[in-house]
Amino acid sequence: MKVLSIGEIMVEMAPADWGLFRMGFAGDTFNTAWYARRLLGDAHDVAYGSVIGTDAVSEDMAGFIEAQGVTPALRRDPTRTVGLYMIQTQNGERSFSYWRGQSAAKTLADDPDWLDALLKDRDLIHFSGITLAILSPDARQTFCKALAKARANGAHVSFDTNLRPRLWEDATTMAEGLRLGASVADTVLPSFDEEQLCFGDSHPDDTIRRYRDLGATTVAVKNGSEMVHLWSQAEGDDRYDPPSVPQVIDSTAAGDSFAAGFLCARALGASVRDATEQAAALAAQVIQHKGALAPAIFEGGNT
Ligand code: ADP
Repeated sequence: MKVLSIGEIMVEMAPADWGLFRMGFAGDTFNTAWYARRLLGDAHDVAYGSVIGTDAVSEDMAGFIEAQGVTPALRRDPTRTVGLYMIQTQNGERSFSYWRGQSAAKTLADDPDWLDALLKDRDLIHFSGITLAILSPDARQTFCKALAKARANGAHVSFDTNLRPRLWEDATTMAEGLRLGASVADTVLPSFDEEQLCFGDSHPDDTIRRYRDLGATTVAVKNGSEMVHLWSQAEGDDRYDPPSVPQVIDSTAAGDSFAAGFLCARALGASVRDATEQAAALAAQVIQHKGALAPAIFEGGNT
């Protein structure tokens, strides 16, 4: 099986001791690729598609992706570099500052031939609301057309709506963008609080109805510790109560790991219900670890 996740991975500067910052790399769609890599056996390929620069930090990023077992599927733009964010802690609360306005990933759809080649012959293609938000309105259309073509050629397309209002031009464009993304997806993975914010949904059934009407065949509406509402063409309506966790250490990547758990299980033949159970079990472990990526879960270590 050939899996591809597409979007933006950024340099992360996280506070370390003595006023120093530790450099890492992170991004929602990359996190999903990272978890998918660990859930699928070596017989499967998991690639990450994006655009980076040709400078030293871009080289480090490509090396990082590869070192994590994820196949880099990267275009290089020598005129740009990668985006960066810095985490700062004030009174125990983390705040984020971003420098991504000119990042190379914003040119993801600028070379349609490269994009078509990237999407060709993939079994599963995953992208998110952030992948769309960083593109210009024209580039969004180009990107979604390329996805629609890949879907028509047999790829299963998955969309994690991942709402980031600050990345979109305005609320109306954001809502249109999410509809556009969902209209080219088989599986849509929204979060209910974000759907309430964006579309004014009063119940997860409203969310399911919208994405079903846009052509999705599977919708899983997450809601933090609350019930996951499911609908699929194959199995109809269902609900799943995620396991409760003793203490949430860091909820970063809950949705990203849920997506990986769900999509990998489905791709390997699990029912929607079993895939949800596996996804929720993984997310429950992830949120009991600090940071987006939790290698300990897969090392039989401190889980
Ligand atoms: P997102 O990060 O995309 O907003 P959610 O916060 O809804 O997604 O979380 C995704 C999944 O992670 C949930 O469906 C659930 O399985 C799990 N999860 C998140 N928060 C909790 C929590 N506090 N307790 C138990 N499970 C949780």
